[in-house]
Amino acid sequence: MQSVILASWLWASSGVVPEPLILVEDGRVVEIGSRALRETPKPAQVLDYSGHLLAPAFVDVHLHGCAGHDVMEGSATAFHSISRFLAQKGTGSFLATTVTAPLDATLKSLAAMAALLRSTGEWPGARPCGIHLEGPFLSHAKRGVHPPENLLEPSIETFDRLFDAAEGLVRLMTLAPELPGAEDLARHATQRGVRISIGHSNATAQETERLLSAGAASATHTFNAMRALDHREPGIAGVVLGETSLFAELICDGIHVDPRMVRLWWRLKGAERGILVTDAMAATGMPDGEYLLGGMRVQLANGRATAQGVLAGSVLTLDRALKNMIAFTGASVEELLPLLTRNPATMIGIESHCGNVCAGQRADMVVLDVDGRLIASLAAGVPVLRGEQAAGHATARR
Ligand SMILES: [Zn+2]
Repeated sequence: MQSVILASWLWASSGVVPEPLILVEDGRVVEIGSRALRETPKPAQVLDYSGHLLAPAFVDVHLHGCAGHDVMEGSATAFHSISRFLAQKGTGSFLATTVTAPLDATLKSLAAMAALLRSTGEWPGARPCGIHLEGPFLSHAKRGVHPPENLLEPSIETFDRLFDAAEGLVRLMTLAPELPGAEDLARHATQRGVRISIGHSNATAQETERLLSAGAASATHTFNAMRALDHREPGIAGVVLGETSLFAELICDGIHVDPRMVRLWWRLKGAERGILVTDAMAATGMPDGEYLLGGMRVQLANGRATAQGVLAGSVLTLDRALKNMIAFTGASVEELLPLLTRNPATMIGIESHCGNVCAGQRADMVVLDVDGRLIASLAAGVPVLRGEQAAGHATARR
């Protein structure tokens, strides 16, 4: 099927296109033109978002679950519910993120997740585009809620078992730099195509720098589960903020990081290296109650997900992260869009098939108003309904 998408502006990695006319065929963008210069092809369905900004759907490299499900369930039901929910919130692609669990349980989960990711069927909404291993190679001192009995010292052999169980679909791994063997593992994993994200760590600045030399590409939820910044021992946080080549995640829900620290992070990581993530868990989009994060029981009350009093992931969605960033920093929607699209896709090396609107990519897009509010979301060129609100904004005609 052919359709045409119109808006007042398009933000893509290549720049802003005023009055765009985007031709979509079989769920993929085939052409981006200008409304003024090109006739709308006659048989096409037209989705008219005049007055609004069109942008690539968001990419979340740190997501454990939502809509009552955790990715480690590894079932089609769980993944389809997650896929549908995320698309309603503007996310087009995500890395299914594990938490530390007993090794056998993790291997089983990874095998099930890999089978689902390899299946050829279309996703109802957001696409899982790989796996993020958060654990087991994390620091005891900064483990957060990751169970201490399941944390392991870095081992190439254990990593290979995890990588092979996941059929090579691991794209990102969180690793604490100070652990013995971390550098060798970082080099080995990087060679196998896995990006290293430093985090859950009590590392000194020097220990952190050694892992950067071994190829670390990003940092996991900056400030959370990290040794605090100190003027004599900058620690991991000091290196993450100061090292211009390093990407860095942030959970911008107003709970995990104080808005003043969000502003500091934004000034230092900026539009080139900042990555907004959710760290969302099963309770996201659900009422208060008890939910699972991997194998752990987590309580959701008043927007906070905790396990025995410690923050246990979030219930954030990326559309809200964008709104919070605008409120906390005063930056514009266009300035912030790379943090949810181009940067995460580039960091994990999949920028050729997600995080942009260009010919050849799946037509996953968001429609935003000037204040950054999510008006509608398109998965493979099809509007994902969010109740009446979205329907009222798109003028669809045949
Ligand atoms: Zn996490």
